[in-house]
Amino acid sequence: MSAVAESGRSRGSDAGGSGRFEELAAYPDHSAELAALVGQDLGLPNLSPLSPHAVNEPMIRHWVEAMGDQNPVYVSDVAAREAGYDRLIAPPTMLQAWIMRGLRASMTLEEARAAGTAQGSGPNDVMMGLLDDEGLTSVVATNCEQHYGRPLVVGDRLVVRSVIESISDPKRTALGTGRFITNRMDYVAVPDADVPAGVPVSPEQVQALFDAGEPVATQRFRILKYLPPDRPLARPPRPRPAITHDNAFWFEGARAHELLIQRCTSCGTLRHPPLPACANCGSLEWDTVEASGRGTLYSYVVVHYPQVAAFEYPLPIGLVELEEGTRVVANLGGAEPDQFVIGMELRAEFVDHGEDLSLPVFVPAGSTSASGEGS
Ligand SMILES: [Zn+2]
Repeated sequence: MSAVAESGRSRGSDAGGSGRFEELAAYPDHSAELAALVGQDLGLPNLSPLSPHAVNEPMIRHWVEAMGDQNPVYVSDVAAREAGYDRLIAPPTMLQAWIMRGLRASMTLEEARAAGTAQGSGPNDVMMGLLDDEGLTSVVATNCEQHYGRPLVVGDRLVVRSVIESISDPKRTALGTGRFITNRMDYVAVPDADVPAGVPVSPEQVQALFDAGEPVATQRFRILKYLPPDRPLARPPRPRPAITHDNAFWFEGARAHELLIQRCTSCGTLRHPPLPACANCGSLEWDTVEASGRGTLYSYVVVHYPQVAAFEYPLPIGLVELEEGTRVVANLGGAEPDQFVIGMELRAEFVDHGEDLSLPVFVPAGSTSASGEGS
């Protein structure tokens, strides 16, 4: 039996013990320091613990318009009363909008992060620093749960306390080994009139308002801090085309490394991409001819963005005029992207993308094989 394997697998949940995952062995184990942070105030770098404004109709109206939410209880007292409320209510999912500091504060924070000066000494910064030190430098948000106690109404002023609710032991996930961190935000409401107006509100006053407030909502926000893979992830398979009754023949031909062109059997007109009827005579009858694969570059683009993980970039894509007369869109290969010139002579090769998909790639007529590029 293998003690090493057993300790790594079966005792993986024991983050602080001797059974740490082997991929974390090169890093320190801060389990004890992290456990001490659970329950502490998180601090909200981009959120305000006291909502800058009371719940108000203009913000609600902007929000529901931006979201396309047409429920009348958010904009009409009459509709709200018909639905059983005293007056119009704020959309529950707008919860976090009330405590956002705004665009300028967010941009300032982003700039500080980019400059590496955003780290402070609060519990959240300490926690993130410890996790980074454990090698868990990547982060992804995994889920957000909100529970609503009662609808927010105009005049509610929100006060929020956020705590580190839990920090999990290291887990193995599809992204990598890491810890799940759950932050909980408790929202209470106080009447706007209870908040000192026109003067800064001290942290002690905010705490007193929170203690006096009525609980209205809870939000849990969970992230995964994880060890980034030390090798690039395998390139995902090329997306599969949508095969239809009309185009199936073309992809079947490609799998046999044949470049097929649809031909109207009534008038002989060639057509591509595949269509059920002839644009020239309207006939539904057709067969195919196999193209020689020779053609010229009619037009092309070189795609840089947006990037899809299945492809290599820059990605040259050509509109190729086949010598038979039809045009076909396909990847270009066998040369650097800047070497393609409109009018240049090309020939088709086929690249297999697994057993179920082969596609033509057009290469300069005089080039050697481009097979295996997979682009
Ligand atoms: Zn026809």
